[in-house]
Amino acid sequence: MVVMNCSAIDTSLGNANSESVSNDDPITRCTECKGKATPVSRKTVLLMLKSHLLEQAMPGSYSFCAASDCDVVYFEKQGGHSFATDDLRIRVGVKVKIDPIPVCYCFGFDESHIREEISTLGETTVPAKISKLIREGLCACDTRNPAGVCCLGEINRTVKRLSTNR
Ligand SMILES: [Zn+2]
Repeated sequence: MVVMNCSAIDTSLGNANSESVSNDDPITRCTECKGKATPVSRKTVLLMLKSHLLEQAMPGSYSFCAASDCDVVYFEKQGGHSFATDDLRIRVGVKVKIDPIPVCYCFGFDESHIREEISTLGETTVPAKISKLIREGLCACDTRNPAGVCCLGEINRTVKRLSTNR
């Protein structure tokens, strides 16, 4: 069970790829792409799945694969069951390359909002707007974000990528 309080989150979540390898703490790897996966609650999985698949999400330990080129979104470690992008009723931002690419699931910001601001203004107000709402405790990332965590880390990565690719 992963419960992340957005306001307590380090906003520089840019170290998602730096693996602190330890034999005591084996990394969960995606059953499809073998990339590093993060734990996600079954509740989050159920909130994202298409209704005809709900019964397939049996109790278990679920993980989220954030690899952009992997079709698997969720998988269950023991049972080996997995759910792909088409099994979800929402678009997973890190898995899609065509607009709309969601970056904030609570307040509806897409990558295009950030892209347009950066191209016209040279900077973007989106992270500040979202940070303010998070500070006021108004976000719902744990139930709206398919990764089950605060979206700010992904948003900051997106801003950085779009700023350097101008
Ligand atoms: Zn994967």
